Amino acid sequence: MNRKRFKYSFILIFLFTVVLVFIDTILTEEASEKYPFIWSLSLIPIILISNMYPKWKVIIGSGVFYSFLKYTTEFGQKINPDNNEINALILGSLINWSIILTIGYFINKSYKLLLKVEELTITDSLTGIYNRRYLELFMEKSIPIYKKMNGSLVFMMLDIDHFKKVNDNYGHQGGDEALRHTSGIIGNNLRNSDVFVRFGGEEFAVILPNTDVTEGLIIAERIREAVEKSEFFYKNERIHFTISVGVSFFNGDTAEEFIKKSDNALYKAKENGRNQIAIIS
Ligand code: GH3
Ligand code: MG
Ligand code: MG
Repeated sequence: MNRKRFKYSFILIFLFTVVLVFIDTILTEEASEKYPFIWSLSLIPIILISNMYPKWKVIIGSGVFYSFLKYTTEFGQKINPDNNEINALILGSLINWSIILTIGYFINKSYKLLLKVEELTITDSLTGIYNRRYLELFMEKSIPIYKKMNGSLVFMMLDIDHFKKVNDNYGHQGGDEALRHTSGIIGNNLRNSDVFVRFGGEEFAVILPNTDVTEGLIIAERIREAVEKSEFFYKNERIHFTISVGVSFFNGDTAEEFIKKSDNALYKAKENGRNQIAIIS
């Protein structure tokens, strides 16, 4: 829970609670029978809070909180409430809870849909890994932090060698299978904390957080070798292919500079004959 939001919701609950209790106990002391539904106003903070934290726990929790407040305030004022008053209170509660549950259902449903859409916008549909947009979002957030902490970060750009030939020889579907296979091999050689995306076409990008030069080169070489040695079959035929890897190390660069450095390193690896890694620090 974000601190600012927490503070905001706390102030909101507090203000509404004070206003409700004030209206109920002071302003309508006499008129409280005339306005038995004054507590319906509590729907406002409940809906606002539910919108901020769209979870059933919070929705039901805030409903229970205001019900509790309503009954303690009402029964605190009336020592011996008559049946009509009790009926009005219960009826008011039933109506409030129907509204809370209905609105809660829709808030919850749309929140889940939003999460799904958000996930789709950062996922590559072919390989199921993250896409370039995710990488950009990640860099936007983490580069300033690494710059401040002077942290070590490795960026790798990985590109399948002569991929055009795979497509030409085995068709686009064969190429797609090869892309899925390659992303699986790369992913198997990474840690959960590493960022792995399909950068575009037959190009992948990897960020290794908190990784130094030596470790970064070992991982890059391990991935290159794993792809080279992997056995990929398409329609019972083994297709052999390799990757080239451009590796660069964070040196206070901007996100663009960092990507560009790895891209240049990749170009160097291709120039030097492919199926190898090249470094630009
Ligand atoms: P190099 O070793 O220099 O990287 O050569 P290359 O043939 O791999 O590179 P090039 O950039 O010339 O060709 C990349 C090919 O990747 C061309 C494009 O059709 C193919 N490609 C890009 N995206 C996809 C995809 O999603 N599926 C398939 N099957 N092919 C793709
Ligand atoms: Mg290529
Ligand atoms: Mg390419």
